[in-house]
Amino acid sequence: MELVHKISEMQALASAWRAAGLSVGLVPTMGSLHEGHMSLVRKSAEENDRTVVSVFVNPIQFGANEDFDRYPRDLSRDLSLCGRAGADAVFNPSAAEMYPEGFCSRVEMSVLTENLCGKTRPAHFRGVCTVVLKLFLAALPDRAYFGQKDAQQLAVVRRMARDFNMRIEVVGAPIVREADGLAMSSRNAYLTAAERAAAPCLFRALSGGAELCRRGVVEARGIERRVREILSETPLARVDYVEVVDAETMRPLETVAGPALCAAAVYIGETRLIDNIALEARAGH
Ligand code: AMP
Repeated sequence: MELVHKISEMQALASAWRAAGLSVGLVPTMGSLHEGHMSLVRKSAEENDRTVVSVFVNPIQFGANEDFDRYPRDLSRDLSLCGRAGADAVFNPSAAEMYPEGFCSRVEMSVLTENLCGKTRPAHFRGVCTVVLKLFLAALPDRAYFGQKDAQQLAVVRRMARDFNMRIEVVGAPIVREADGLAMSSRNAYLTAAERAAAPCLFRALSGGAELCRRGVVEARGIERRVREILSETPLARVDYVEVVDAETMRPLETVAGPALCAAAVYIGETRLIDNIALEARAGH
């Protein structure tokens, strides 16, 4: 497995693979890898001849008061995990390599970014789209892999690929969870023991909302109320948002009729966790 730091080297490696007729899969990450990331790497390795994992903590997707400085970083552990999961290259550029002096372009996206995390984190998706475009142009993938855990991000990247006619298939993959339901996240490392014990309330609450929908409640407000009610039983949890949205456009729904998600962001102590669950309305509604 190769470790690549320079964009030009990454482009040369990917171009050589493509010229040899090999397909390339890209898994963009911010490192501090866990089983959620590894499921994406394994999927890419199964579906492509070559797999690149990018490890880059992207400064421009963090707000001024967010956790960029203390975001967990452990490249040597990430490298050994990637090697074992079948990656062919890890692309680990520096911030100066990605955003050299004078860099002033951004990819701006509307509509899909107006609610959920886009509302709480105003510059976040501009930073995500910009870095993902740069990573795509560095690793030249046929397919790129993203987790359903960041459902809005997946929808935004899908839309960007479509809007700019990129010949890249954006592949989504299911959320990987701990045994108690907590969605795996690099940020779970911030949790104290008491917070970690409280954190499964997020999945428990979303499951309660999905269960209500399965039983025939299709009014979005009713489902959201149920999720908030369950969260309120956990004193350490403070709700940022709970929203029922269309699974593709991320627009808020009044009623669940087609593919929908209930998405939530909750502070457990100081740590902001996100999660979501698919809603299936009972046939006939
Ligand atoms: P991150 O390093 O947090 O930016 O995540 C990199 C990629 O891994 C994104 O596409 C995430 O959606 C995905 N990911 C993170 N956590 C999980 C998880 N628990 N299950 C599935 N995918 C995940």
